[in-house]
Order: sequence, then C-alpha cells, then structure tokens
Amino acid sequence: MDFQRRGVMLVLASPSGAGKSSISRALFGADPNIKLSVSVTTRARRTDEIDGKHYHFIDVPTFEQMRRDGGLLESAEVHGNFYGTPRARVEEQLSAGNDILFDIDYQGTLQLYEKCRADMVTVFILPPSIKELRARLERRAQDSVGTIEKRLKNARREMDHYNEYDYVLVNEDLELSVARVRAILASARLERKRQRDLDGFVRDLQNQIGPA
Ligand code: 5GP
Repeated sequence: MDFQRRGVMLVLASPSGAGKSSISRALFGADPNIKLSVSVTTRARRTDEIDGKHYHFIDVPTFEQMRRDGGLLESAEVHGNFYGTPRARVEEQLSAGNDILFDIDYQGTLQLYEKCRADMVTVFILPPSIKELRARLERRAQDSVGTIEKRLKNARREMDHYNEYDYVLVNEDLELSVARVRAILASARLERKRQRDLDGFVRDLQNQIGPA
C-alpha cells in the first residue's frame, strides 16, 4: 500500500564523465514518478541536445532577468557558462507527489540545502579511476581537447565536495549504480516525514483493535 506523499528532490552530482547522465536516464526512463528538472543554461546547445528537453537554452540577458525576478531556485557559473533551476515546476511537482531528479553541481546543491533541505536527498557519483574518466570524456566526441582538459581540472575541484553529499557511490558498473540510486530513492520515499495520511491509517488500525 502506498500513501500520498510529498516528492523527493533527488540531486545527483559528479564530475563530468563519471556517468551521471547515463544513471539519470536509466532512472528517469523506468519510473513515471520521476520528473527531470530541466535547467536553463547559456551554454551553446550540443548537436544531440533538444531545447526544452535537455536544457532550456537561453541568452545571458534572459538568464540575468530570470535570476533577478526570483525565477531560479539556484544558479551557478560552470565552465564559463551560466546554469539555473527554474523554480515554478519544482514546487508543482513536489506537491503532486512526483520526485524530481536534479543534475546540478555542488554550488547549486549548497544553495538548495539552504532553501529545501528537508525535501532533498543528495548523491555524489565518483568515477572508478581517472583513466576511465578521461576515456569517457574522450568518447564524447563533441568536446574539444581544450574542453576535456578544462573538464578534468574542474573534476578535481568538484571532487573536493564529495563530503557535502548524503550518499557517495563509485560508478564502476552502470546497472549496479542505477540499482543503488533506486534503493536510495526507495528509502527516501518511505521516510515518515514525506508520507501523508499516516495518522489516519494508524488510528484506523487501532480502532479496529478497539479501546486500549
Ligand atoms: P554540461 O554543460 O556538461 O551539461 O553541465 C556542466 C555542469 O553543469 C554539470 O556538472 C551539471 O551538473 C551542471 N549543471 C547543469 N545544470 C545546472 C543547474 O541548473 N544548476 C547548477 N548549479 N549546475 C548545473
């Protein structure tokens, strides 16, 4: 039996290339209760990306306007581009009992902690080795050599922040990592604070037993 519940804000973070996007896709594809938070970004669209699905691609003045208007729950500059989480959809989905998956960096996570800690569960994903991380970045043919080096340097900095997350996993095997994140989400969904109507249910059980 499932009770109505408030959604979970599930933050997956990792240095680029550690496999976070594959894990997100697998989670998202298999569970209709999980919605993706689609960020806005000023970064140029990669050819395999769809506007509105992977990101909302916007220009810098539009980004600044949204930030000024309080339309972003968090925002950060990553690799020289701006990224942010549109606010409205998040509250809507949480109230509807849907979980939201966030692919944001540690700067964004820290901002969300300040505003929505009670709703959040955060997971940091590490690559099994730097050799593997580099290989994954190189397989992503879209990024130039300079970009790969920049992302590796950034990965080093990102890894400083692993201890700000609730859970940490090493992504050696995609299927195993997905199963682990599913287990984390399954337990977060069962946390007492998220479940509505528990009181009524317990009282009803007690009433069926009769007076103390
Ligand atoms: P990419 O350009 O490879 O899609 O993303 C680069 C980095 O920006 C990743 O670490 C990703 O998690 C982060 N990122 C993407 N969207 C957001 C966002 O809305 N807010 C923050 N703080 N970081 C984001």
